Amino acid sequence: MAHDFHFANKLNSQARQSSAERSWSAISRFYDNCKKKIPGKKGYPKFKKNCRSVEYKTTGWKLDLNTRKAITFTDKNNIGRLKLVGTYDLHFYPIELIKRVRLIRRADGYYCQFILSIDVKIDSLPANSLIGLDVGLESFYTDQNGQKIDNPRFLRKGEKKLKKLQRRLSRKKKGSSNRRKARQKLAKAHLKISRQRQDFAVKLARCVIYSNDVIAYEDLRIKNLVKNHCLAKSIKDAAWYQFREWIEYLGEKHGKITVAVAPHYTSQKCSNCGETVKKSLSTRTHICACGCQLDRDENAARNILKIGLSTVGHTGTWLKDSLNALGEDTATFSGAILSKQVTSVNKESPVTATIGA
Ligand SMILES: [Zn+2]
Repeated sequence: MAHDFHFANKLNSQARQSSAERSWSAISRFYDNCKKKIPGKKGYPKFKKNCRSVEYKTTGWKLDLNTRKAITFTDKNNIGRLKLVGTYDLHFYPIELIKRVRLIRRADGYYCQFILSIDVKIDSLPANSLIGLDVGLESFYTDQNGQKIDNPRFLRKGEKKLKKLQRRLSRKKKGSSNRRKARQKLAKAHLKISRQRQDFAVKLARCVIYSNDVIAYEDLRIKNLVKNHCLAKSIKDAAWYQFREWIEYLGEKHGKITVAVAPHYTSQKCSNCGETVKKSLSTRTHICACGCQLDRDENAARNILKIGLSTVGHTGTWLKDSLNALGEDTATFSGAILSKQVTSVNKESPVTATIGA
């Protein structure tokens, strides 16, 4: 590649390599999606001309070993020595653990990311609690006890701001410096929202993981959702995906069980008797002939938890009576089973795997 493209020659060989690796993974992901006949977008790989990042592996850069507050890039791009600002203390980690270094351009400056290879597993005590999460339109999520987490404020505020800046940008003449400035402002606003979203997602996910042993939620995917012109909804969807990513990441780290269940009929079914109770999107209360009356999202969250627990029962060895786990007198009962299951996940997961196979 270096012979054909001038820009590639200037890069360090490993940086070229890792960029090629990412291209190949994009291409194979595309073919994979096609083979599996996934409906909708297949993710046709795009050629990226204005790449905003370079990734180095273990060569091409050198950290200042005394202060660890500066990094020198030693390839032919003449980036040279850069001062590292920020609060992370790189002294904490041995240099050998740094597997990749990424230089990224964002709307408000350049960033240097260090990717470390650390195996983190944290032994956490069982919280003796389960949670089922329903993503609703009105709140960020509702759990099976009817507790709701409100949509974050940055959603509404950010939406207004983005709309305003977008309008302003569209009024500017193409190629003018005013347009360039407006574009920068919009990019910075986007960046701010994405940081607020990240912050929100991490904090909430940490909270949920710490206080529960099993977390069940709907397996919503971007391609399953209708592409929406509503900006607030799209920001919210993005926040939800990020939240889920953190739930899954932290869940693995802390030995908790996370289950994504198929999102079918979770809001229509009665969580008490299993009967289907049809309701439109505007019906906010679930009322069933069996006498069960619940908030719409609370009913859905109960169904999600039920399905989630039954899935866990199928793949694992314990939790046979998971369908009863929502009963009233079973709080201690399910807790006892869970602590067993959680320790088994922590310590014996390879063994369970072989038994299952
Ligand atoms: Zn019912």
